[in-house]
Amino acid sequence: MTVGLDLDGKQMRAWEQVPVPVYHPTPSQTRLATQLTEEEQIRIAQRIGLIQHLPKGVYDPGRDGSEKKIRECVICMMDFVYGDPIRFLPCMHIYHLDCIDDWLMRSFTCPSCMEPVDAALLSSYETN
Ligand SMILES: [Zn+2]
Ligand SMILES: [Zn+2]
Repeated sequence: MTVGLDLDGKQMRAWEQVPVPVYHPTPSQTRLATQLTEEEQIRIAQRIGLIQHLPKGVYDPGRDGSEKKIRECVICMMDFVYGDPIRFLPCMHIYHLDCIDDWLMRSFTCPSCMEPVDAALLSSYETN
């Protein structure tokens, strides 16, 4: 008899203690995916905007004398091939579009002459 009562009592307690499954997806956990602060995101957006303002074109060694002097992209060390998408920096150095865009996201200077690209950009805006 006492065993039966004990079992009943345990069962009762077990049922009472069953926790309601509530999942709280904490906002802080999802935010870990993007660890950039708002300030960093703004700076990156501004930098992308500046990069987009740089003139771009395709490599054509026969058309322009200035392009003829630069035969390879110093970022990837590959020779330019006719028709390659390229980006012109204000210092007249040229690079593959993909190479220089990637480079400028990390360092906003020309990889050849170390001239700050944004300073040249700003001064060219003022004179225009
Ligand atoms: Zn390259
Ligand atoms: Zn340069």
